[in-house]
Amino acid sequence: MKVLVIGSGGREHSIVAKLASSTEVTALYAAPGNGGIADLALCVPIDVTAVEDLVHFAKEEQIDWTFVGPEIPLLAGVVNAFQQEGLNVFGPTKEAALIEGSKDYAKQFMRTHGIPTAASETFSDAAKAKAYIVEKGGPIVVKADGLAAGKGVVVAQTVAEAHEAIESMLVDNQFGQAGSLVIIEDFLEGKEFSLMAFVDGGNVYPLVPARDHKRVYDNDQGPNTGGMGAYAPIPDLQQPVIDEAIERILKPAAAGLVNEGRSFTGVLYAGLIETTDGPKVIEFNARFGDPETQVILPLLENDLLQVMQDVTAGNDPKLKWKDAFATGTVIAASGYPGSYDKQLPLPDLSQLPHDVYCIHAGTEKKADGYVSNGGRILFIGSVHHNRADAVESVKKGLKLFKNNPDFHYRTDIGFGK
Ligand code: AMP
Repeated sequence: MKVLVIGSGGREHSIVAKLASSTEVTALYAAPGNGGIADLALCVPIDVTAVEDLVHFAKEEQIDWTFVGPEIPLLAGVVNAFQQEGLNVFGPTKEAALIEGSKDYAKQFMRTHGIPTAASETFSDAAKAKAYIVEKGGPIVVKADGLAAGKGVVVAQTVAEAHEAIESMLVDNQFGQAGSLVIIEDFLEGKEFSLMAFVDGGNVYPLVPARDHKRVYDNDQGPNTGGMGAYAPIPDLQQPVIDEAIERILKPAAAGLVNEGRSFTGVLYAGLIETTDGPKVIEFNARFGDPETQVILPLLENDLLQVMQDVTAGNDPKLKWKDAFATGTVIAASGYPGSYDKQLPLPDLSQLPHDVYCIHAGTEKKADGYVSNGGRILFIGSVHHNRADAVESVKKGLKLFKNNPDFHYRTDIGFGK
């Protein structure tokens, strides 16, 4: 079968790598792909939001299945457009993806369906938002309603910080339309984890939980990023908490979306926090997490194309997981998540140890090697039966980037926090 993957990040490289191991896949395409994906798939220069061009390409090439990686094309209606043409596509419609596209909608949805989450109020008026913050006090969380590339959330320790966030979102329009509504949410305390599931209507098939690290520096210090590393499964997360999250969060969410006429097909992602009062939702996403996918797919024993076919046909894909630990660390450009240089030459990746895998995020392939073209450049991962061995081999892999002023990476991913 001919398979197309839409997207160009680390998540999509992981998806392409997993599909490349499928016995059913005869040809792989990516739009637009990246330097690493180009080693496994034919990359076609079509933007992820060029919905008509993507449909046209899939029809011309007689693509059998398309997997949509990122949220932007989902919200742009790429799945709707493929379905209208009778093309097989794995991902939610734009109506179902609204659970990620509007945090205000997601909060209302959770209230309606009794899904545990932090108490919140939504505002469009800065003065009213500020008054609410004064009433509540800090710490408090301010979120832009729409997509803001992971930058639309401010965890404010004080009223003054929260007021600053309101100013930048509602007055200075930092996020444009995406920040014209803000959600002000109670601060929740606890350990975070990501729980995803393959979903089709009311059917929910959970994946192994993973933990990502969003802060740029070790010990979760510094500003939030797209994610600096991840590991799976989570040794300190107890099975009853996972079960509770499946029963009280993922299943009611899938059923609720069906009830609201927004039946979801694809990967539903719950960003959760383990509070003393049970797991609560921080956010829903309508697709695989990045970088969680980079540690989850290497643990999945099933053929991903078969899983997509089973799930969409209403059959249990009978997910099987390796009894192993996967961990990985992102190599970012120095300066990220602030300003950073692109076109940085990457070291010779064939020098990486044999027991690590290297996923490309922001890279480009040149005649004489790879160069960077994004803030998050690579993901160095390892799978071992034993957690200490996995952490150790990633550490060895990171040495290739040590003392190189072009790059920055965390040194504490996978150690248990
Ligand atoms: P999000 O983009 O919604 O995943 O939020 C980014 C980060 O902000 C999360 O990973 C949490 O660390 C933090 N965060 C979001 N909402 C809350 C909350 N209600 N309480 C505490 N931390 C939060």
